[in-house]
Amino acid sequence: MRYQPVIGLEIHAELLTDSKVFCTCQNEFGGSENTRVCPRCSGMPGTLPLLNQNAVKLAARAGIATDCTVNKYSAFDRKNYFYPDLPKAYQITQFESPICTNGHITVVGGKDIRINRIHIEEDAGKLVHDDYEGVSLADYNRCGVPLIEIVTEPDFRTIEEVQDFVEQIALRLKYAGVCDARMEQGSLRVDVNISIMPIGSDVFGTRAEIKNLNSVKAIGRAIAYEIERQSEILDNGGTVVQETRRFNDNHGNTKALRSKEEAHDYRYFPEPDIPPVLFTDEELEEIVNSMPEMPQKRFARYTKAYGLPSDDASLIISNKDFSDFYDETVKINPDYKQVSNLMLGELLRNLNDSGTAVTDLKFAPTDLAKLVEMSSGGTVSKNAAKDILKIMFDNGGKPEEIAKENGFIMDNDASGLEAVIDKVIADNADSVESYKSGNAKVFGFIMGQAMRLAGKGANPKLIKDLLTEKLK
Ligand code: ADP
Ligand code: MG
Ligand code: ZN
Repeated sequence: MRYQPVIGLEIHAELLTDSKVFCTCQNEFGGSENTRVCPRCSGMPGTLPLLNQNAVKLAARAGIATDCTVNKYSAFDRKNYFYPDLPKAYQITQFESPICTNGHITVVGGKDIRINRIHIEEDAGKLVHDDYEGVSLADYNRCGVPLIEIVTEPDFRTIEEVQDFVEQIALRLKYAGVCDARMEQGSLRVDVNISIMPIGSDVFGTRAEIKNLNSVKAIGRAIAYEIERQSEILDNGGTVVQETRRFNDNHGNTKALRSKEEAHDYRYFPEPDIPPVLFTDEELEEIVNSMPEMPQKRFARYTKAYGLPSDDASLIISNKDFSDFYDETVKINPDYKQVSNLMLGELLRNLNDSGTAVTDLKFAPTDLAKLVEMSSGGTVSKNAAKDILKIMFDNGGKPEEIAKENGFIMDNDASGLEAVIDKVIADNADSVESYKSGNAKVFGFIMGQAMRLAGKGANPKLIKDLLTEKLK
């Protein structure tokens, strides 16, 4: 590559409040058009905004989750622009004094990406373009939905760094209960600012901003396309213009939307109808203390203290409820790897196949802890443990009882096995002959026959030893 890309992000996240940020309309995704609007969020003259306290708390939580300073003083401003999905013709946001500043997240390769600020603002409505009728219709349900905007410094140099950052932000916001981070529904949207400069240079080029990317994959494709597009312009002696562009998922390209506005175009001024947001030390401390352990801390705990492989750890933390269930289980039975194996294997498969949420499981961490103890201690075989888990998953129940009822308790008494193995050898004379003449592969088949005849409670190790002995 001849050029070095330089990338900075602006990420919008919808806050998980019950109501909108300046009125009492419900804050929810979807629904019939214009059913969640009132005079305030539809911009009627004379109405006054009333700041949602919970939105403020969630924004502070986002700051703590990303190692920002939560400022004791922050204030709102009006950002003026005219657009049909913005009925007031201005957006209430935080410009001069954002609620959080100076955070960072460490990404792949160990590099720190600096977060410049996080501010609170209101979302705009949505335009629905009807090509058939040739009209555009405005849906104001999203007007006044509380958002935070997270702005990074232009610290990214690779696609992988950007994608890792977005995945980490999404996960942290979910853990902190700030945002459900459903990119496909637009509750987390990423604007990518990207410029290129000759390798070795430290003078940044002119950037393009690609708006509203809604998947990690699209982010990667859009950046790759922009690097190509801008490189071609520079190679041909041209200059990149600063503009806003839209990524087209079907074509994998970006198209210019509008030339970039400067801050002065927005004629920012202090919002006169909302008093500043003030925090006391005690209030901030209370929020800090109410935060759950963040995923990156859990990852470190799983890999360092519990000795889990990093793939296991990443997979477990990727869902907070799943990770909570793991934590509860290993608190009772600290057989870290075996619990992980059973959860990431049998349990995860069942959850995914059935679309069940971890919070709806019919058994408790104590039951899983017991099952792992039974399996590791040799009360049931590894295969039987999977069968038991499946039954627990489908119907609930205690693993000890399920094991007894279904004859899964492993029989560690070899006496009955001899007859079984003699019968298998007699019944499968051809295979035995083949094995003895050097075809080692048929052992698995004979072993399978013996296991079947011996029943679910049979101890595979005893059978294997005995069979090996008899086949000598
Ligand atoms: P503005 O306020 O005009 O949007 P900012 O300085 O706040 O500009 O930057 C907006 C975003 O653009 C930030 O994420 C920042 O990291 C990124 N950015 C700024 N300069 C560059 C550049 N030369 N190349 C790529 N990204 C940039
Ligand atoms: Mg900006
Ligand atoms: Zn409203």
